Amino acid sequence: MTSIDTNKHKKAKALKPGSVRPAKELCSECGLCDTYYIHYVKEACAFITQRIDELETSTHNRPRNLEDENELYFGVHQEMIAARKIQPIEGAQWTGIVSTIAIEMLNRGLVEGVVCVQNSKEDRFQPMPIIARTPEEILAAKVNKPTLSPNLSVLEQIEKSGMKRLLVIGVGCQIQALRAVEKKLGLEKLYVLGTPCVDNVTRAGLQKFLETTSRSPETVVSYEFMQDFRVHFKHEDGSVEKVPFFGLKTNVLKDIFAPSCMSCFDYVNSLADIVVGYMGAPFNWQWIVVRNDTGKEMLELVKDQLHTQSVMSKGDRKAAVQQGIEAYDKAVTLPMWVAKLMGVVIDKIGPQGLEYGKFSMDSHFTRNYLYVKRNHPEKLEDHVPEFAKRIVAQYKLPE
Ligand code: FAD
Ligand code: SF4
Ligand code: SF4
Repeated sequence: MTSIDTNKHKKAKALKPGSVRPAKELCSECGLCDTYYIHYVKEACAFITQRIDELETSTHNRPRNLEDENELYFGVHQEMIAARKIQPIEGAQWTGIVSTIAIEMLNRGLVEGVVCVQNSKEDRFQPMPIIARTPEEILAAKVNKPTLSPNLSVLEQIEKSGMKRLLVIGVGCQIQALRAVEKKLGLEKLYVLGTPCVDNVTRAGLQKFLETTSRSPETVVSYEFMQDFRVHFKHEDGSVEKVPFFGLKTNVLKDIFAPSCMSCFDYVNSLADIVVGYMGAPFNWQWIVVRNDTGKEMLELVKDQLHTQSVMSKGDRKAAVQQGIEAYDKAVTLPMWVAKLMGVVIDKIGPQGLEYGKFSMDSHFTRNYLYVKRNHPEKLEDHVPEFAKRIVAQYKLPE
C-alpha cells in the first residue's frame, strides 16, 4: 500500500458537480472528489481500495478480533451500551445523542468546528454539509438526511480555515476516506462520531421509496427501519405511520438503493471513535459503540444527560435470515395482511438487541455480497473485508 506522504494535493483540482467520479457507478458521493483531496482518491475511496482492516488497526491500535462474535459483527470496541437522552431533542432522528455530543464538544472548547449535514432551504431531504461553529448550527443539522451526502466536500475549507481541532460526524464510506487523508488536514486532533448506515439512496431514489411506501410522501419528516420490523414514518402533524418490512414492495424497491450501498460492508462505521445507532439496542433505545479512548472521552461528556442500560441479546436470527435471502432474491412481496401478521409474530419471538443487529447485518451483507458477485465479480475478493466474508459464509446463497 502506498503511504500518503506528499503535500501535492493542493495542486489537484476538484471535480465539477455532475462529472463522472473515479469510482464510477459505485461512487457514494462522499464529497472527497469535490475537493483537492481527490489527489488521494485511489488510496482513500472505499470503492476503489477497501482498507478497513488496515485502517482499523492504525485508528484503534489493534485489529478486530474475528474470533469474538460481537467484534466480528460490530467492530473494534471497548464498550457497548443502550442509551437515550433524559430530555430528548425534539425533531432529532432518535433522542439526539449525536447532536448532544457535538454541542458539548464545541461548548467545552474541545473542538473549533463540527462537520455535519444540514438540509437545503427548499428540500428537507437535500443534504447540505457544513462546518458548524455554533450549537445552533449543529442543532440545525439534526435528523437523518436519508440520501447520499457529500459530507467531505467541506474538507478544503478546514485546511484553509487554519482550524486545529475538529469533530466530523459521518457514515462509513465518508469516514474511510476521511481516515485515509486525516494526516493531510493539518489538524492537531480529529474526533470522529459515526452513525451506522445502510440502504442509502439518491434523492430521486428516496422519492420513489416514499411514494411507493408511505400513505403521504410529501408530509414525511423522517423515517426509520425500526427494531419492531416496521418502517416508522414520522409525519409533519406528529403522527407515526408503521409499514411492516415484509410488506415492502421488494420488486419495485430492489433498484432504488445506490450501487455504492449495495456494495457496502461498513454498516457499523468501523473507523469512527464512537458510533451512535439503534440496531443493537432494545426497541426505542439508542445503541452506543465506544471503539477507543477518544470515543470514551466523547461519551463521558454526555453521560449525565443519558439513561443507560446494558446491551442485551435474545432470539435466534439464522433461520429468518436464510428465508429472507431467498425471498429477496425472488423479489417476493407478501399481501399486506400476511406481512402485518408476520411482523407481529417476529416482533414477539424474533431477534432482539444485539441479535437484531446481527440479523440486520446478516441480511444486508448476504444481499450485498451477491450484488458484488453478480455485478462486479472482479472486485469481489479485494472489496469484501474478511469479517464480512466470514459473516456471509454462515449462509447458503443462490448463484
Ligand atoms: P441526531 O441528533 O438527529 O443527529 C443526526 C446526525 O446525523 C446529524 O449530526 C447529521 O449531521 C448526521 N447525518 C444526517 N444525515 C446524514 C447522512 N446522509 N450522512 C452523514 N451524516 C448524516 N442506525 C442503525 O442502528 N441501523 C441502521 O440501519 C441505520 N441506518 C442509517 C441510515 C442512514 C442513511 C443514516 C444517516 C443513519 C442510519 N442509522 C442507522 C443511524 C440512526 O438512524 C441515527 O442517525 C442515529 O441513531 C443518531 O440519532 P440521533 O437522534 O442521536 O441523531
Ligand atoms: Fe470520490 Fe468519494 Fe465517490 Fe470515491 S465515493 S469516487 S472518493 S466522491
Ligand atoms: Fe456510504 Fe455504505 Fe451508507 Fe451507502 S450504505 S452511504 S456506501 S456508508
